[in-house]
Amino acid sequence: TRTPLIAGNWKMNLTYIEAQALLEDLVENLKEAGHKADAVEVAVLPPFVDIRTVQTVLDGSGSGIAFGGQDISEHESGAYTGEVSGTMLKALGATYAAVGHSERRQYHGETEQVTNAKVKAALANELSPILCVGEPLEERKAGKHVEYTLAQVEGGLEGLSAEEVKKVVIAYEPVWAIGTGEVATSEDAQEVCHEIRDLLATKFGDEVADAVRVLYGGSVKSSSIVDLMQQADVDGALVGGASLKADEFAKIATYN
Ligand code: 13P
Repeated sequence: TRTPLIAGNWKMNLTYIEAQALLEDLVENLKEAGHKADAVEVAVLPPFVDIRTVQTVLDGSGSGIAFGGQDISEHESGAYTGEVSGTMLKALGATYAAVGHSERRQYHGETEQVTNAKVKAALANELSPILCVGEPLEERKAGKHVEYTLAQVEGGLEGLSAEEVKKVVIAYEPVWAIGTGEVATSEDAQEVCHEIRDLLATKFGDEVADAVRVLYGGSVKSSSIVDLMQQADVDGALVGGASLKADEFAKIATYN
């Protein structure tokens, strides 16, 4: 059985001072709501410059909240101005690195090949990649959403062993649902998450398909999380906007 994962992607929000305040609130809210870290894993993906602060707040908090980067360099070290390596993230105690978020693909020209290299860079540093996939509106309208998304999954996992794939988290985030307030129906989410798991079974075997957590992302709120989590193949959520409010995010993480 897979431990559900509720991850907050803060995107380009919160100074380190604001991050500290939010996180202290979140720890408090989760405690009050009786959150059990072994039942539902909670993680945050802060901007890189906030991570040292996040580590300090979480260290010894007993909250079990994990953290990771919103991105990772595909390179190990050297002359790559502006990049942050897996080694650096790992040294801070990160356990995750998001890879291939649609905003990286759209605004920073990240190709399938770059995404695949970043997945490998995360794994090489014992970080779990959160591989983000999902179709734009045109593909959905054309009924090509499954095909499009599965191609991204295949591209992202290219060249990985079954053992490596087990460590990957896949986040299905239809582009049209991100930041739009338009959450996919839980049936839409289930359809694609199920197809992703089927593909994993075909390519890497049932054991891998059973182990990999597949999340849904796109306008998730406390009002939509319960239905989403009732879907057999939805193992959690990648939350953007709603992760910037401690009480709302704590409600999402304690949906059950
Ligand atoms: P929103 O929850 O703000 O739609 O963002 C989703 C997302 O992109 C998480 O990575």
